[in-house]
Amino acid sequence: MLIDTFGRVATDLRVSLTDRCNLRCTYCMPEEGLQWLAKPDLLSDDEIVRLIRIAVTDLGITEVRFTGGEPLLRPGIVGIVERCAALEPRPRMSLTTNGIGLERTAVALREAGLNRVNVSLDTLRPDVFQTMTRRKRHGDVLRGLEAAREAGLTPVKVNAVLMPGLNDDEAPDLLAWAVENDYELRFIEQMPLDAQHGWKRDGMITAEDILKSLLTRFELTAEENGERGSAPAERWIVDGGPHRVGVIGSVTRPFCSACDRTRLTADGQIRTCLFAQEESDLRAALRSGATDEEIGGLWKTAMWGKKAGSGLDDPAFLQPRRPMSAIGG
Ligand code: SAM
Ligand code: SF4
Repeated sequence: MLIDTFGRVATDLRVSLTDRCNLRCTYCMPEEGLQWLAKPDLLSDDEIVRLIRIAVTDLGITEVRFTGGEPLLRPGIVGIVERCAALEPRPRMSLTTNGIGLERTAVALREAGLNRVNVSLDTLRPDVFQTMTRRKRHGDVLRGLEAAREAGLTPVKVNAVLMPGLNDDEAPDLLAWAVENDYELRFIEQMPLDAQHGWKRDGMITAEDILKSLLTRFELTAEENGERGSAPAERWIVDGGPHRVGVIGSVTRPFCSACDRTRLTADGQIRTCLFAQEESDLRAALRSGATDEEIGGLWKTAMWGKKAGSGLDDPAFLQPRRPMSAIGG
């Protein structure tokens, strides 16, 4: 098992398949100038599958989520999913994507064994989309979402980040649209993980702001006994059900004490938290001929060092050296 000194057990592995992306969301990446990882530094498909196999068969991981950067930019993604689906025990697999390219790949991913997708979409307005992502791809995302639903990659979840002055008035419209289209909407508070270090606590839209805004149009009931378990989203039943809406308040309502995650970057580093300063190098071990036991041992040691919390509340908080796109969001 991957256990830490606070008794938390990691069962959910986030795997970044690439740090590259075809969008430039303002809260994530600068317009230009971000240095990509060099090709030889990236794990190969075989190396990724081997690490996932060790995690699933030896370390108790039951849930694998592929992310990035934009994971659909990884040419081998369908093959990686297919090989992971053949592992014993078979992990549940999902994908966090901006949706571009999903129209083409949804059926293949489903057939390879992917269970679900989370698609990121912050706005229903194409002009605001272009301002927020610096690209004209709104239609591609909407088509990708539909393709995912048609392919049965359900429940399709939609992640939205609200930014002041851009889309902070859109929470009720996004929820009405999600309910109508059978997507499960989750709002994510903006976190200090952008490459250009532009996050400001003062300006951010909080979970409370989001809920207030939704309550102007919907009746929200906290989900049964308010249990959140290890899930980061607090969920509410919308207008009596069956639809739900989630809010992930990583900054103002942290869930660190119930965290069940471990992360693998595209260049083979283990991170115990998005906000960790430390990484543990599994790639070096892999490439110097380490056995499965030795790699599992390194992973367990990394987990043992996991901190109690993100440190966001600490005035001395330091943003991680690498941005979200490189860590894997
Ligand atoms: N490119 C894919 C996508 O956008 O879904 C996967 C990677 S992206 C880093 C994963 C999620 O992180 C997205 O839902 C995105 O909106 C969110 N995200 C990125 N930067 C963020 C930030 N600074 N604060 C909060 N969420 C952020
Ligand atoms: Fe790309 Fe996702 Fe970052 Fe947007 S949030 S720039 S889609 S990695």
